[in-house]
Amino acid sequence: MTAPVIILGSGLAAYNVAREFRKLDKTSALTIVSRDHAGFYSKPMLSNAFSANKSAEQLLMKSAEKMAEELNATILGHTKVVSIHVHNQEVMLGDDTILPYRDLVLAVGADPIRLPMGGDGASDVLSVNDLDDFAHFNRRLASAKSVAILGAGLIGCEFANDLLARDIAPIVIDPSAWPLSRLLPQAAGDFMADKLSDAGVQFHWGVTAQAVDAEGAGFVVKLSDQTELAVDLVLSAVGLRSRTELAAAAGLQVNRGVVVDRYLQTSQPHIYAVGDCAEVAGLTLPFVLPIMQQARALAATLMGERTVVKYPAMPVMVKTPACPAVVAPPAMGSVGEWHLETSETGIVAKFMSNSGSMAGFALLGSATSQRQALTPDLPVVLA
Ligand SMILES: Cc1cc2nc3c(=O)[nH]c(=O)nc-3n(C[C@H](O)[C@H](O)[C@H](O)COP(=O)(O)OP(=O)(O)OC[C@H]3O[C@@H](n4cnc5c(N)ncnc54)[C@H](O)[C@@H]3O)c2cc1C
Repeated sequence: MTAPVIILGSGLAAYNVAREFRKLDKTSALTIVSRDHAGFYSKPMLSNAFSANKSAEQLLMKSAEKMAEELNATILGHTKVVSIHVHNQEVMLGDDTILPYRDLVLAVGADPIRLPMGGDGASDVLSVNDLDDFAHFNRRLASAKSVAILGAGLIGCEFANDLLARDIAPIVIDPSAWPLSRLLPQAAGDFMADKLSDAGVQFHWGVTAQAVDAEGAGFVVKLSDQTELAVDLVLSAVGLRSRTELAAAAGLQVNRGVVVDRYLQTSQPHIYAVGDCAEVAGLTLPFVLPIMQQARALAATLMGERTVVKYPAMPVMVKTPACPAVVAPPAMGSVGEWHLETSETGIVAKFMSNSGSMAGFALLGSATSQRQALTPDLPVVLA
């Protein structure tokens, strides 16, 4: 009997690959192994769940059993893969069970980055990167009135805006001078900061959290400018680091992510990587749209039709209702400058390259309505 295709993980990358694969191949054995509950949920919903009035239970869209039925797959939840034996084409589980694979797909995601911080409350700093984290965060919020959020990036700003729906005061701390500083020029960031401030978000710019101390039922966050903030909870949203350990231990090439070629194949045949754990053509893009492209290409490759992944322009919607935004940042190293058209209600920021073409954009407020019109003018991310 042929060994199954095994997918490690049960996030959007894993389930998108499984769904695309099943569209092309209804019968080959498929096994999904995940260290979590393996139910299906949409991770982007975690940072607007309060506005949508959803509990963790309501965010779970389908149980592992339901997914197994739908996908005609064996799904092993709460099962961690501890090693990959490349030459025998096997993975080993936490209880030493060995599972042989025909092809292996790593969809193991990324870990939240933890900033080194002093204080006896530092280990209680939360991060929300999956449904279980969200459930825990939600329970801890039960009696909270204020939350310090470390990081004013996309995720930090989304959580800040969302907490307002629960009447909780978000206090955002960031070393830069404006939100989404890697994606927006300052004038656009200032516009967003104003809108979020008007809605009730507090910001501390140009500072870092040096220590978190437990105090009573809450915490005191000590900032680099000596400010002390008393809050009920601390949430860290300072970025993600691809989970590469499993791949590295198996001798696969890793860099910022698990290195794959345009066929999404790792440095070993029969092993592929997708989603937040993968580095494709030097890019680690922790978003949903690249996953969709990867899943379609990989499903075809797994069927024997080797297919390269291509990325079109992929603007990202920022879920901050106080200041809706769509961002399509220019590629790293792009040379040019931002051109802004500002109105009372919105900003169109275009990053124009020296050759005169638009290399990226950021649309804020009412200008988000221009997304469809402007997207075709963006360069593709991976031709
Ligand atoms: C709060 C939040 C909001 C977001 N909003 C947006 C948005 O609006 N738009 C957008 O495009 N993107 C958004 N993203 C990013 C997007 O959700 C992610 O890029 C995507 O969900 C990643 O999916 P993944 O399957 O690669 O990883 P994950 O969902 O992290 O899945 C990894 C899986 O691997 C499993 N696993 C890990 N190690 C092992 C092991 N050793 N053995 C077995 N299983 C293992 C885990 O249990 C998990 O099931 C958001 C992310 C967050 C955190």
